[in-house]
Amino acid sequence: MAVVIVGGGNAGLQVADSLRRKGFEGDITLFAEEAHLPYQRPPLSKKFLEGALAEARLTLRPEKFYADRAIDVRLDTKVTHIDKDAKTVLTDAGESIAYDQLVFATGARPRPLPGHEQQKGLHFIRTIDDIHALKEDLQGKKSALLIGGGFIGLEAAATLTTLGLKATVVEAMPSIMPGLVAPELAEFFRKAHEAKGVTIIEGASASNVDANPSGGFTAMLSDGRAVSADIVVIGIGVIPNSEIAEAAGLACERGILVDEFGATSDPSVYAAGDCATGVITRYEGRTRLESVQNAVSQAAVVAGSIVGEKAAYADLPWFWSDQYDLKLQMAGLSRGYDQTVVRGDMESRSFSICYFKSGVLIAIDSVNAIKDHMAAKKLLDAGTDITPEQCADTDTPLKDYIA
Ligand SMILES: Cc1cc2nc3c(=O)[nH]c(=O)nc-3n(C[C@H](O)[C@H](O)[C@H](O)COP(=O)(O)OP(=O)(O)OC[C@H]3O[C@@H](n4cnc5c(N)ncnc54)[C@H](O)[C@@H]3O)c2cc1C
Repeated sequence: MAVVIVGGGNAGLQVADSLRRKGFEGDITLFAEEAHLPYQRPPLSKKFLEGALAEARLTLRPEKFYADRAIDVRLDTKVTHIDKDAKTVLTDAGESIAYDQLVFATGARPRPLPGHEQQKGLHFIRTIDDIHALKEDLQGKKSALLIGGGFIGLEAAATLTTLGLKATVVEAMPSIMPGLVAPELAEFFRKAHEAKGVTIIEGASASNVDANPSGGFTAMLSDGRAVSADIVVIGIGVIPNSEIAEAAGLACERGILVDEFGATSDPSVYAAGDCATGVITRYEGRTRLESVQNAVSQAAVVAGSIVGEKAAYADLPWFWSDQYDLKLQMAGLSRGYDQTVVRGDMESRSFSICYFKSGVLIAIDSVNAIKDHMAAKKLLDAGTDITPEQCADTDTPLKDYIA
Protein backbone atom coordinates (compact mmCIF):
# COMPACT_ATOMS: atom_id res chain seq x y z
CA MET A 1 0.00 0.00 0.00
CA ALA A 2 1.40 3.41 -0.97
CA VAL A 3 0.37 6.77 0.44
CA VAL A 4 1.39 9.93 -1.38
CA ILE A 5 1.15 13.24 0.47
CA VAL A 6 1.15 16.44 -1.55
CA GLY A 7 2.41 19.33 0.56
CA GLY A 8 5.12 19.64 3.21
CA GLY A 9 3.59 21.83 5.91
CA ASN A 10 2.14 21.03 9.34
CA ALA A 11 -0.65 18.94 7.84
CA GLY A 12 1.55 16.91 5.46
CA LEU A 13 4.05 16.11 8.19
CA GLN A 14 1.28 15.15 10.63
CA VAL A 15 -0.35 12.74 8.17
CA ALA A 16 2.98 10.93 7.72
CA ASP A 17 3.79 10.97 11.44
CA SER A 18 0.32 9.75 12.48
CA LEU A 19 0.35 6.99 9.86
CA ARG A 20 3.56 5.55 11.32
CA ARG A 21 2.31 5.99 14.89
CA LYS A 22 -0.78 4.02 13.94
CA GLY A 23 1.41 1.21 12.63
CA PHE A 24 1.10 1.86 8.89
CA GLU A 25 3.89 -0.12 7.21
CA GLY A 26 3.40 0.83 3.57
CA ASP A 27 5.31 3.39 1.50
CA ILE A 28 4.94 7.06 2.38
CA THR A 29 6.12 9.71 -0.07
CA LEU A 30 5.77 13.38 0.84
CA PHE A 31 6.19 15.98 -1.91
CA ALA A 32 7.10 19.48 -0.77
CA GLU A 33 7.30 22.36 -3.20
CA GLU A 34 9.50 24.38 -0.88
CA ALA A 35 13.18 23.55 -0.45
CA HIS A 36 12.81 23.38 3.37
CA LEU A 37 11.82 20.46 5.55
CA PRO A 38 8.34 21.06 7.04
CA TYR A 39 8.54 24.07 9.34
CA GLN A 40 6.33 26.15 11.61
CA ARG A 41 4.89 29.30 10.02
CA PRO A 42 3.62 31.21 13.10
CA PRO A 43 7.06 32.65 14.03
CA LEU A 44 7.48 34.04 10.49
CA SER A 45 5.52 37.19 11.33
CA LYS A 46 6.73 37.23 14.92
CA LYS A 47 10.10 36.15 16.37
CA PHE A 48 11.70 35.03 13.09
CA LEU A 49 10.98 38.34 11.34
CA GLU A 50 12.24 40.11 14.45
CA GLY A 51 15.51 38.18 14.24
CA ALA A 52 14.93 36.66 17.70
CA LEU A 53 14.61 33.05 16.49
CA ALA A 54 17.14 31.14 14.39
CA GLU A 55 15.94 29.55 11.16
CA ALA A 56 16.91 26.08 12.41
CA ARG A 57 14.35 26.48 15.22
CA LEU A 58 11.54 26.71 12.67
CA THR A 59 12.08 23.17 11.43
CA LEU A 60 9.43 20.89 12.89
CA ARG A 61 11.42 17.62 12.71
CA PRO A 62 15.06 16.92 11.78
CA GLU A 63 16.04 14.89 8.72
CA LYS A 64 16.67 11.86 10.93
CA PHE A 65 12.99 11.79 11.96
CA TYR A 66 11.95 11.09 8.38
CA ALA A 67 14.77 8.61 7.76
CA ASP A 68 13.95 6.65 10.95
CA ARG A 69 10.32 6.33 9.89
CA ALA A 70 10.99 5.60 6.21
CA ILE A 71 9.15 8.71 5.11
CA ASP A 72 10.45 9.57 1.66
CA VAL A 73 10.51 13.38 1.59
CA ARG A 74 11.00 15.00 -1.81
CA LEU A 75 11.84 18.64 -1.23
CA ASP A 76 11.72 21.27 -3.96
CA THR A 77 9.31 19.09 -5.90
CA LYS A 78 5.90 20.25 -6.96
CA VAL A 79 3.09 17.90 -7.84
CA THR A 80 1.59 19.35 -11.00
CA HIS A 81 -1.14 16.89 -11.87
CA ILE A 82 -3.02 13.90 -10.51
CA ASP A 83 -4.80 11.22 -12.48
CA LYS A 84 -7.35 9.78 -10.10
CA ASP A 85 -8.40 7.02 -12.49
CA ALA A 86 -4.85 5.76 -12.99
CA LYS A 87 -4.04 6.71 -9.35
CA THR A 88 -0.83 8.50 -10.22
CA VAL A 89 0.68 11.88 -9.47
CA LEU A 90 2.99 13.76 -11.80
CA THR A 91 5.73 16.09 -10.54
CA ASP A 92 7.45 19.10 -12.08
CA ALA A 93 10.54 16.88 -12.36
CA GLY A 94 8.59 14.72 -14.80
CA GLU A 95 8.30 11.81 -12.37
CA SER A 96 5.10 9.80 -12.22
CA ILE A 97 4.38 7.91 -9.02
CA ALA A 98 1.50 5.59 -8.16
CA TYR A 99 -0.61 5.80 -5.03
CA ASP A 100 -3.24 3.74 -3.28
CA GLN A 101 -4.27 6.66 -1.07
CA LEU A 102 -3.51 10.29 -1.81
CA VAL A 103 -3.58 13.22 0.63
CA PHE A 104 -3.75 16.88 -0.34
CA ALA A 105 -2.00 19.00 2.29
CA THR A 106 -1.22 21.82 -0.10
CA GLY A 107 -2.06 24.69 2.25
CA ALA A 108 -2.78 28.14 0.94
CA ARG A 109 -0.95 31.06 -0.62
CA PRO A 110 -1.27 34.81 -0.02
CA ARG A 111 -3.99 36.59 -1.96
CA PRO A 112 -2.35 39.20 -4.20
CA LEU A 113 -3.62 42.77 -4.22
CA PRO A 114 -6.08 42.90 -7.13
CA GLY A 115 -4.45 44.54 -10.16
CA HIS A 116 -0.99 44.14 -8.64
CA GLU A 117 -0.48 40.42 -9.21
CA GLN A 118 2.76 40.96 -11.15
CA GLN A 119 4.09 43.98 -9.30
CA LYS A 120 7.62 43.61 -8.05
CA GLY A 121 8.73 44.84 -4.63
CA LEU A 122 5.51 44.08 -2.72
CA HIS A 123 6.04 41.65 0.14
CA PHE A 124 4.04 38.73 1.48
CA ILE A 125 4.51 36.72 4.66
CA ARG A 126 3.94 33.03 4.07
CA THR A 127 7.29 31.29 3.65
CA ILE A 128 10.82 31.36 5.06
CA ASP A 129 11.95 32.71 1.70
CA ASP A 130 9.39 35.54 1.95
CA ILE A 131 10.95 36.58 5.27
CA HIS A 132 14.48 36.43 3.87
CA ALA A 133 13.37 38.73 1.04
CA LEU A 134 11.60 41.08 3.44
CA LYS A 135 14.52 41.22 5.86
CA GLU A 136 16.93 41.99 3.05
CA ASP A 137 14.67 44.78 1.85
CA LEU A 138 14.33 46.20 5.38
CA GLN A 139 17.95 47.36 5.46
CA GLY A 140 17.97 51.12 5.94
CA LYS A 141 14.17 51.41 5.61
CA LYS A 142 12.16 53.56 7.97
CA SER A 143 8.49 53.01 7.20
CA ALA A 144 6.17 50.16 6.31
CA LEU A 145 2.64 49.98 4.97
CA LEU A 146 0.71 46.85 5.91
CA ILE A 147 -2.27 46.33 3.63
CA GLY A 148 -4.76 44.24 5.59
CA GLY A 149 -5.55 44.45 9.30
CA GLY A 150 -5.94 40.74 10.02
CA PHE A 151 -3.58 38.68 12.16
CA ILE A 152 -0.68 38.67 9.67
CA GLY A 153 -0.81 42.41 9.01
CA LEU A 154 -1.08 43.27 12.70
CA GLU A 155 1.63 40.84 13.82
CA ALA A 156 3.92 42.21 11.11
CA ALA A 157 3.07 45.78 12.17
CA ALA A 158 4.00 44.89 15.77
CA THR A 159 7.27 43.23 14.75
CA LEU A 160 8.31 45.97 12.33
CA THR A 161 7.52 48.57 15.00
CA THR A 162 9.71 46.65 17.44
CA LEU A 163 12.43 46.79 14.78
CA GLY A 164 12.12 50.58 14.72
CA LEU A 165 10.00 51.17 11.61
CA LYS A 166 7.02 53.50 11.45
CA ALA A 167 4.11 51.25 10.50
CA THR A 168 0.75 52.09 8.93
CA VAL A 169 -2.00 49.47 8.70
CA VAL A 170 -4.84 49.89 6.20
CA GLU A 171 -7.96 47.77 6.73
CA ALA A 172 -10.86 47.87 4.25
CA MET A 173 -13.50 46.83 6.79
CA PRO A 174 -14.78 49.21 9.51
CA SER A 175 -12.40 47.70 12.07
CA ILE A 176 -9.23 45.64 12.23
CA MET A 177 -9.48 41.83 12.74
CA PRO A 178 -12.77 41.89 10.84
CA GLY A 179 -15.04 38.96 11.59
CA LEU A 180 -12.37 37.47 13.81
CA VAL A 181 -12.98 39.04 17.21
CA ALA A 182 -15.61 41.13 19.03
CA PRO A 183 -15.53 44.90 18.34
CA GLU A 184 -14.33 45.65 21.88
CA LEU A 185 -11.35 43.36 21.39
CA ALA A 186 -10.55 44.86 17.98
CA GLU A 187 -10.65 48.29 19.58
CA PHE A 188 -8.35 47.14 22.38
CA PHE A 189 -5.78 45.97 19.81
CA ARG A 190 -6.19 49.14 17.74
CA LYS A 191 -5.39 51.24 20.82
CA ALA A 192 -2.44 49.00 21.71
CA HIS A 193 -0.98 49.51 18.24
CA GLU A 194 -1.63 53.24 18.28
CA ALA A 195 0.08 53.50 21.66
CA LYS A 196 3.18 52.04 20.00
CA GLY A 197 3.02 54.65 17.25
CA VAL A 198 1.30 52.58 14.55
CA THR A 199 -1.19 54.44 12.35
CA ILE A 200 -4.32 52.35 11.85
CA ILE A 201 -6.63 53.36 9.00
CA GLU A 202 -9.93 51.51 9.06
CA GLY A 203 -12.74 51.47 6.50
CA ALA A 204 -10.47 52.29 3.56
CA SER A 205 -9.01 49.94 1.01
CA ALA A 206 -5.74 50.41 -0.82
CA SER A 207 -6.25 50.22 -4.55
CA ASN A 208 -3.29 51.56 -6.52
CA VAL A 209 0.14 50.96 -5.10
CA ASP A 210 2.79 52.64 -7.24
CA ALA A 211 6.54 52.59 -6.93
CA ASN A 212 7.92 56.10 -6.36
CA PRO A 213 10.73 57.18 -8.69
CA SER A 214 12.84 58.09 -5.65
CA GLY A 215 12.18 54.76 -3.91
CA GLY A 216 9.37 53.36 -1.79
CA PHE A 217 5.71 53.20 -2.71
CA THR A 218 2.59 55.32 -2.56
CA ALA A 219 -0.79 53.68 -2.07
CA MET A 220 -4.01 55.42 -3.01
CA LEU A 221 -6.82 54.67 -0.57
CA SER A 222 -10.51 54.45 -1.35
CA ASP A 223 -11.17 57.46 0.90
CA GLY A 224 -8.92 59.61 -1.29
CA ARG A 225 -5.92 59.57 1.01
CA ALA A 226 -2.44 58.65 -0.17
CA VAL A 227 -0.02 56.72 2.06
CA SER A 228 3.68 56.49 1.27
CA ALA A 229 6.08 53.97 2.80
CA ASP A 230 9.47 52.46 2.09
CA ILE A 231 8.10 48.90 2.29
CA VAL A 232 4.69 47.44 1.48
CA VAL A 233 3.46 44.12 2.90
CA ILE A 234 0.23 42.62 1.60
CA GLY A 235 -1.79 40.63 4.14
CA ILE A 236 -5.29 40.42 2.71
CA GLY A 237 -5.97 36.75 3.23
CA VAL A 238 -5.10 33.56 1.41
CA ILE A 239 -6.23 31.43 -1.48
CA PRO A 240 -6.42 27.68 -0.74
CA ASN A 241 -4.20 25.64 -3.05
CA SER A 242 -6.95 23.51 -4.55
CA GLU A 243 -6.37 23.96 -8.30
CA ILE A 244 -4.75 20.55 -8.86
CA ALA A 245 -7.59 18.84 -6.98
CA GLU A 246 -10.13 20.84 -8.97
CA ALA A 247 -8.46 19.97 -12.28
CA ALA A 248 -8.67 16.31 -11.28
CA GLY A 249 -12.42 16.67 -10.82
CA LEU A 250 -12.58 16.66 -7.02
CA ALA A 251 -15.40 18.66 -5.45
CA CYS A 252 -14.03 22.04 -4.32
CA GLU A 253 -15.64 25.16 -2.94
CA ARG A 254 -13.24 27.73 -1.48
CA GLY A 255 -11.03 24.73 -0.67
CA ILE A 256 -11.09 20.99 -1.25
CA LEU A 257 -14.35 19.66 0.16
CA VAL A 258 -13.95 16.90 2.73
CA ASP A 259 -16.24 15.10 5.13
CA GLU A 260 -15.69 14.61 8.86
CA PHE A 261 -13.20 11.83 8.07
CA GLY A 262 -11.10 14.03 5.78
CA ALA A 263 -12.30 12.19 2.66
CA THR A 264 -12.83 14.09 -0.59
CA SER A 265 -15.38 13.24 -3.28
CA ASP A 266 -12.94 10.49 -4.40
CA PRO A 267 -12.73 7.62 -1.87
CA SER A 268 -8.95 7.26 -2.38
CA VAL A 269 -8.18 10.94 -1.88
CA TYR A 270 -8.11 12.95 1.36
CA ALA A 271 -7.32 16.54 2.27
CA ALA A 272 -6.28 18.31 5.47
CA GLY A 273 -5.21 21.73 6.71
CA ASP A 274 -5.54 25.15 5.10
CA CYS A 275 -6.45 23.66 1.70
CA ALA A 276 -9.49 21.75 3.01
CA THR A 277 -13.03 22.91 3.66
CA GLY A 278 -14.33 20.27 6.00
CA VAL A 279 -16.79 19.09 8.56
CA ILE A 280 -16.08 19.49 12.26
CA THR A 281 -18.85 17.56 13.92
CA ARG A 282 -19.37 20.10 16.71
CA TYR A 283 -20.35 22.73 14.09
CA GLU A 284 -22.97 22.90 11.36
CA GLY A 285 -21.93 23.05 7.72
CA ARG A 286 -18.40 23.13 6.41
CA THR A 287 -15.54 25.21 7.75
CA ARG A 288 -12.10 26.05 6.41
CA LEU A 289 -9.73 27.04 9.19
CA GLU A 290 -6.22 28.42 8.98
CA SER A 291 -4.48 27.29 12.14
CA VAL A 292 -1.81 24.91 13.34
CA GLN A 293 -4.35 23.11 15.53
CA ASN A 294 -6.64 22.49 12.57
CA ALA A 295 -3.82 21.29 10.31
CA VAL A 296 -2.61 18.84 12.96
CA SER A 297 -6.05 17.61 14.10
CA GLN A 298 -7.46 17.13 10.62
CA ALA A 299 -4.27 15.41 9.43
CA ALA A 300 -4.51 12.94 12.31
CA VAL A 301 -8.12 12.24 11.34
CA VAL A 302 -7.03 11.56 7.75
CA ALA A 303 -4.29 9.16 8.90
CA GLY A 304 -6.89 7.31 10.99
CA SER A 305 -9.22 7.03 8.01
CA ILE A 306 -6.42 5.61 5.85
CA VAL A 307 -5.53 2.88 8.34
CA GLY A 308 -9.18 2.02 8.96
CA GLU A 309 -9.46 3.65 12.40
CA LYS A 310 -12.18 6.04 11.38
CA ALA A 311 -12.74 8.81 13.91
CA ALA A 312 -14.70 11.91 12.96
CA TYR A 313 -13.08 15.33 13.31
CA ALA A 314 -14.62 16.84 16.44
CA ASP A 315 -11.74 18.76 18.06
CA LEU A 316 -12.31 22.21 19.51
CA PRO A 317 -10.60 24.85 17.34
CA TRP A 318 -8.01 27.05 19.01
CA PHE A 319 -5.62 29.70 17.79
CA TRP A 320 -3.17 32.31 19.05
CA SER A 321 -1.64 35.59 17.95
CA ASP A 322 1.26 37.50 19.51
CA GLN A 323 1.43 41.27 19.13
CA TYR A 324 4.02 43.09 21.28
CA ASP A 325 3.61 41.74 24.83
CA LEU A 326 -0.02 40.80 24.15
CA LYS A 327 -0.71 37.09 23.80
CA LEU A 328 -4.15 36.53 22.32
CA GLN A 329 -5.41 32.96 22.73
CA MET A 330 -8.70 31.95 21.20
CA ALA A 331 -10.73 28.85 22.06
CA GLY A 332 -13.79 27.84 20.04
CA LEU A 333 -15.33 29.68 17.09
CA SER A 334 -17.20 32.87 17.98
CA ARG A 335 -19.13 33.11 14.71
CA GLY A 336 -22.85 33.72 15.18
CA TYR A 337 -22.49 35.04 18.75
CA ASP A 338 -25.21 37.35 20.07
CA GLN A 339 -23.71 38.37 23.43
CA THR A 340 -20.28 39.01 24.86
CA VAL A 341 -19.11 39.53 28.41
CA VAL A 342 -15.73 40.78 29.51
CA ARG A 343 -14.01 38.77 32.19
CA GLY A 344 -11.48 40.93 34.02
CA ASP A 345 -10.35 44.46 33.43
CA MET A 346 -9.30 45.37 29.89
CA GLU A 347 -7.19 48.24 31.25
CA SER A 348 -5.07 45.69 33.13
CA ARG A 349 -4.17 44.07 29.73
CA SER A 350 -5.11 40.68 31.16
CA PHE A 351 -8.71 39.68 30.47
CA SER A 352 -10.99 37.44 28.41
CA ILE A 353 -13.96 38.06 26.13
CA CYS A 354 -16.59 35.34 26.44
CA TYR A 355 -18.95 34.80 23.48
CA PHE A 356 -22.48 33.44 23.92
CA LYS A 357 -25.08 32.33 21.40
CA SER A 358 -28.64 32.00 22.73
CA GLY A 359 -27.20 31.88 26.24
CA VAL A 360 -24.67 29.13 25.45
CA LEU A 361 -20.93 29.76 25.77
CA ILE A 362 -19.34 29.19 22.31
CA ALA A 363 -15.90 30.80 22.49
CA ILE A 364 -13.46 32.62 24.74
CA ASP A 365 -10.69 34.95 23.54
CA SER A 366 -8.10 35.58 26.23
CA VAL A 367 -5.44 38.27 26.33
CA ASN A 368 -2.51 37.57 28.63
CA ALA A 369 -4.82 35.27 30.60
CA ILE A 370 -3.43 31.80 30.10
CA LYS A 371 -5.39 30.25 32.96
CA ASP A 372 -8.65 31.44 31.40
CA HIS A 373 -7.57 30.00 28.05
CA MET A 374 -6.63 26.61 29.46
CA ALA A 375 -9.95 26.39 31.34
CA ALA A 376 -11.86 27.73 28.30
CA LYS A 377 -10.65 24.85 26.15
CA LYS A 378 -11.92 22.32 28.68
CA LEU A 379 -15.22 24.11 29.34
CA LEU A 380 -16.00 24.47 25.65
CA ASP A 381 -14.88 20.97 24.83
CA ALA A 382 -17.21 19.54 27.44
CA GLY A 383 -20.06 21.91 26.50
CA THR A 384 -20.28 23.03 30.14
CA ASP A 385 -23.33 25.03 31.15
CA ILE A 386 -22.00 28.36 32.32
CA THR A 387 -23.81 31.69 32.44
CA PRO A 388 -22.55 35.11 31.30
CA GLU A 389 -22.66 36.23 34.95
CA GLN A 390 -20.45 33.31 36.02
CA CYS A 391 -18.01 34.08 33.21
CA ALA A 392 -17.79 37.71 34.28
CA ASP A 393 -17.14 36.83 37.94
CA THR A 394 -13.37 36.92 38.34
CA ASP A 395 -13.61 35.83 41.99
CA THR A 396 -14.23 32.29 40.74
CA PRO A 397 -11.56 30.75 38.47
CA LEU A 398 -13.05 29.39 35.24
CA LYS A 399 -11.49 26.03 36.02
CA ASP A 400 -13.87 25.68 38.99
CA TYR A 401 -16.72 25.22 36.51
CA ILE A 402 -15.06 22.29 34.78
CA ALA A 403 -17.16 19.26 35.64
C1 LIG B 1 2.94 34.32 9.05
C2 LIG B 1 1.97 33.31 9.60
C3 LIG B 1 1.66 33.32 10.94
C4 LIG B 1 0.76 32.40 11.45
N1 LIG B 1 0.49 32.41 12.78
C5 LIG B 1 -0.31 31.47 13.31
C6 LIG B 1 -0.54 31.41 14.71
O1 LIG B 1 -0.06 32.25 15.46
N2 LIG B 1 -1.31 30.40 15.18
C7 LIG B 1 -1.85 29.45 14.36
O2 LIG B 1 -2.55 28.55 14.84
N3 LIG B 1 -1.66 29.50 13.03
C8 LIG B 1 -0.91 30.48 12.49
N4 LIG B 1 -0.71 30.53 11.14
C9 LIG B 1 -1.43 29.58 10.28
C10 LIG B 1 -0.73 28.23 10.22
O3 LIG B 1 0.63 28.40 10.07
C11 LIG B 1 -1.32 27.46 9.04
O4 LIG B 1 -2.71 27.31 9.25
C12 LIG B 1 -0.67 26.10 8.89
O5 LIG B 1 0.69 26.26 8.59
C13 LIG B 1 -1.34 25.31 7.78
O6 LIG B 1 -0.62 24.16 7.52
P1 LIG B 1 -0.82 23.35 6.16
O7 LIG B 1 0.10 22.20 6.24
O8 LIG B 1 -2.27 23.11 5.95
O9 LIG B 1 -0.41 24.33 5.00
P2 LIG B 1 1.01 25.08 4.66
O10 LIG B 1 1.68 25.38 5.93
O11 LIG B 1 0.61 26.15 3.75
O12 LIG B 1 1.81 23.95 3.93
C14 LIG B 1 1.50 23.52 2.64
C15 LIG B 1 2.77 23.22 1.89
O13 LIG B 1 2.43 22.53 0.70
C16 LIG B 1 3.23 23.00 -0.36
N5 LIG B 1 2.55 22.73 -1.64
C17 LIG B 1 1.46 23.36 -2.15
N6 LIG B 1 1.13 22.83 -3.35
C18 LIG B 1 2.02 21.84 -3.58
C19 LIG B 1 2.21 20.94 -4.65
N7 LIG B 1 1.39 20.96 -5.71
N8 LIG B 1 3.24 20.06 -4.59
C20 LIG B 1 4.06 20.03 -3.51
N9 LIG B 1 3.94 20.88 -2.47
C21 LIG B 1 2.93 21.77 -2.51
C22 LIG B 1 3.36 24.48 -0.05
O14 LIG B 1 4.47 25.02 -0.73
C23 LIG B 1 3.51 24.47 1.46
O15 LIG B 1 4.86 24.38 1.83
C24 LIG B 1 0.17 31.45 10.59
C25 LIG B 1 0.49 31.45 9.22
C26 LIG B 1 1.36 32.37 8.72
C27 LIG B 1 1.69 32.36 7.26
